Amino acid sequence: MPLYAVATNTQVSVVAFALIRAGVAKFSGVSAAPGAMPGVEAITESRAFRELGAWEPLLEHWRAALATLGAEFRAGDARVMPKGPQACRQCDLHALCRVNELQPEQPEEGYE
Ligand code: SF4
Repeated sequence: MPLYAVATNTQVSVVAFALIRAGVAKFSGVSAAPGAMPGVEAITESRAFRELGAWEPLLEHWRAALATLGAEFRAGDARVMPKGPQACRQCDLHALCRVNELQPEQPEEGYE
C-alpha cells in the first residue's frame, strides 16, 4: 500500500485495505486526518506512525524506505528481513516464506 501511495501523482490522504474473513469485515490503515474512513486511524492517533507526527513525513518515510528496498533488489539483495518476530507471528504467509531458512539448524537429539 505505501508503494501505491507514493507512486501516484494524485494527492493521497488515506492508505487502507479491507480485511475480510469469516465474521470480520473492516478497514485497516492510516489517514492524514481523523474520520476519513471507519476503522482507519489518523496519523496523530496511530501508535505505529505517531512518532512521524504528520502525514507528509510519513509519505517521505515510505519514499525513502521504498527507495532503499528498490536499491537492494537492484543489487541482488533479496534477503528475508521481517521487521521483527511479532510481524511473523501475525502473518499468514508462512507456507510461502523463506524466513525459517534463516534459523540455524538444530542438531537432532542424540547427535552432537
Ligand atoms: S512470515 Fe515471512 S512474509 Fe510473513 S512477516 Fe515473516 S518474513 Fe514476512
